[in-house]
Amino acid sequence: MFSEAAPDTMIHVLKHVESITQHRDRTLLELGVALALFELVKAREVNLYKMVDNSRALERVTHVGQDGIRYASEFDDDGQITPLDARPEMVACVDRAQIIRRHDEERDWHVHCFPISVDRGVLGVLEVSCDTPLTDDDLGTAEGFLGLYRNYLSLLDYSERDTLTGMLNRKTFDEHLAKILSGMAIDHDGKPARRRQQDDGGHWLAVIDIDHFKRINDQFGHLYGDEVLILLSRIMRSSFRQQDRLFRFGGEEFVAILRAASEAEVAAALERFRSAVESYAFPQVGQVTASTGYTCITPQDTIPEIVGRADEALYVAKDTGRNRVAGYETLLAAGKVAAREKRNGDIELF
Ligand code: GH3
Ligand code: MG
Ligand code: MG
Repeated sequence: MFSEAAPDTMIHVLKHVESITQHRDRTLLELGVALALFELVKAREVNLYKMVDNSRALERVTHVGQDGIRYASEFDDDGQITPLDARPEMVACVDRAQIIRRHDEERDWHVHCFPISVDRGVLGVLEVSCDTPLTDDDLGTAEGFLGLYRNYLSLLDYSERDTLTGMLNRKTFDEHLAKILSGMAIDHDGKPARRRQQDDGGHWLAVIDIDHFKRINDQFGHLYGDEVLILLSRIMRSSFRQQDRLFRFGGEEFVAILRAASEAEVAAALERFRSAVESYAFPQVGQVTASTGYTCITPQDTIPEIVGRADEALYVAKDTGRNRVAGYETLLAAGKVAAREKRNGDIELF
């Protein structure tokens, strides 16, 4: 693809490749790809959109244009998630996994949508807008960078996801929660560092554990047990909202990080999930139930403290009959669990 390129262009391309491949961080990797294309094909604008888990919507995660560079955490939440159906060229790009071109009459731009496809499907769309249609050489350059990005994504995916259920894994959970905690840090004005935390209330952590899973394995065999895990993770994906993050913590234990404005909202979402599991007919196995413990994530928390509280609530849910949802803060207020000592010896207050 670069066979006829002048040596200085080659060096320029190689510099971009070098800068992209040194990143283990998704955001920097994506920014590197968008920046490289913006420069190499002389684009007006490059946008990278990702499919929102389990929904036909796209979230813009990277923007490079003449007005500057922005990535995920710098976008306001509003308006960055677009239903796929609102953009016919995106629908075609995702559904056919093909490059789609259109002419933007208003700006007189030629817009090219490239599907970002990996083994498990189309993960998003790279949109490149230029004054003229891309030449074959430019298309080659774009596809080359996209290929590089795709290979990298597959590697990252492999290290971030659980192979049985496709859910995010334990390692990713720790990184994700650490990011949330650092994003919640209070800045020197005493206000949360990022506006988005104020808008939707807060973050909650739920630990979900299948009831009597050992019996399912013993009675029906491991393969049926595995199928229950796969189906339950599907129910989880369809029960929670786009911005919630779901993980397989290990064995038959799952974790959800939920965004909710109030305890009532988070309790209702978890109850909806509990009821969806209870009423699902699992092939051969029949009825399966799960118990959940949850807690509110606060800026002063450490990861073990948060998980410890949710686990304590889960223990109560198991101990009081299973197939139920228990919240740590509610249990604490009702005197059903004792306040936990923090590492510095203080008692946690709510
Ligand atoms: P409880 O209601 O108290 O949670 O009881 P339980 O039987 O669900 O809990 P326990 O921790 O005793 O058993 C969990 C079982 O999950 C034991 C283990 O063999 C099984 N398990 C863990 N990982 C997997 C897996 O990937 N596939 C299958 N099929 N089973 C698994
Ligand atoms: Mg269990
Ligand atoms: Mg367990």
